[in-house]
Amino acid sequence: MPIYIVAEECKGCKLCLPACPYGAIEMVDGVAVLTDDCTQCGACVSSCKFGAIKLERVEMCDVDTSQYRGVWVVAEVNDGRLADVTLELLGEGRQLADQLGEQLSLVLVGHEVEPLAEVAAAYGADKVYLAQAPELERYRTGPFTDVITGIINRYKPEIVLIGATGMGRDLASRIAARISAGLTADCTGLEISVEDRLLYQTRPAFGGNIMATIVCRHARPQMATVRSHVFLKPEPDHNRTAEVVEVPVSLDEKSIMTRIVEVIKENVDAAANLQDSDIIVSGGRGLKKADNFELIRDLADAIGGAVGASRATVDAGWIPAYHQVGQTGKTVHPKLYIACGISGAVQHLAGMGSSDCIVAINSDPSAPIFEVAHFGIVGDLFEVVPALTRAIREEFGG
Ligand SMILES: Cc1cc2nc3c(=O)[nH]c(=O)nc-3n(C[C@H](O)[C@H](O)[C@H](O)COP(=O)(O)OP(=O)(O)OC[C@H]3O[C@@H](n4cnc5c(N)ncnc54)[C@H](O)[C@@H]3O)c2cc1C
Repeated sequence: MPIYIVAEECKGCKLCLPACPYGAIEMVDGVAVLTDDCTQCGACVSSCKFGAIKLERVEMCDVDTSQYRGVWVVAEVNDGRLADVTLELLGEGRQLADQLGEQLSLVLVGHEVEPLAEVAAAYGADKVYLAQAPELERYRTGPFTDVITGIINRYKPEIVLIGATGMGRDLASRIAARISAGLTADCTGLEISVEDRLLYQTRPAFGGNIMATIVCRHARPQMATVRSHVFLKPEPDHNRTAEVVEVPVSLDEKSIMTRIVEVIKENVDAAANLQDSDIIVSGGRGLKKADNFELIRDLADAIGGAVGASRATVDAGWIPAYHQVGQTGKTVHPKLYIACGISGAVQHLAGMGSSDCIVAINSDPSAPIFEVAHFGIVGDLFEVVPALTRAIREEFGG
């Protein structure tokens, strides 16, 4: 058993009791004792000031992989809705689960989020593990890690997928460390090998210059984070239903180390706009200076699109980071992507290469962007972009 309490070292202070989200510690004859409800989540370990609660790390190669079954997606809930990346992962998870002949489950943690179980079912989930408490209303690393680690330890999934968002990146690494599993971050492709039940997780490596495919042979679950827009959102089927497994949790606000004082939403509209837009006009270093982004904004405005940017322009401070497209920016999948003065570095292509139609405007005919562009205009963007904007406004009055 990886977690145990050394009775001789326990001082009977009871500090560990509120730290356990599953109410699985009791006092017996003045000594803390773990009950059968213990999920081994590890939340109690740091609460003991006397080191009486011990956590024994399991060697990865000791894990009996045959005990782990099913594909799970961890939900991200924003403003009472499942995030798009969660729905996309349910679509991909459905395919992986079907290939393995297993169930697809959603782990839904929050406050008053039960109605979202129906949404999860429509998007492919067979089962929803539901943990609710007022303390879980907004994401906080500590309690979410404790609760989800507990659910994983109890029900043992084979694969766990999490969105590579701010929340997902923070959470996935914590959980993986807590359960001694591997984690492949920012995957751009997932494939299953049915024979050995291994998940082949592909992601850019060495600054995006190679694509690495990673397998996790010994530890379970196999964990991956995936950015939004890497997979397509499936069509919902509102006739589907899912079994809801309620996981009772009891949290004590006093034993949670972080408080959310204020939530400041900064330009979410512009950021969301970029990922939801069917048309994106992006500017690169070819613009020469910040003021010239006005050309990009004009064209985007005329054509009804959003403004994107290369990292070079973000690094130069010409435009805020939430406009950045690429490996370390947003992954986008618009119907039309117009790249103006962007060379087409592999890290930029990683974020927009799957656009339906790519138009490149670049003065250098050998720029790599032309290798992925469906239409290329070799020319000076300071002439081409305003001419395009004029032509569109004349034709469509945008
Ligand atoms: C780990 C890592 C992560 C990265 N992540 C990202 C990322 O997420 N997104 C990203 O974009 N980059 C990323 N990069 C940076 C990337 O490698 C490139 O440096 C960057 O994309 C270059 O931006 P650019 O195309 O605007 O600039 P440049 O490469 O300098 O290209 C400018 C282009 O403008 C053209 N040009 C110049 N003048 C004109 C003109 N008057 N008219 C028309 N064309 C003109 C030039 O011919 C040139 O092709 C990353 C790099 C690393 C190492």
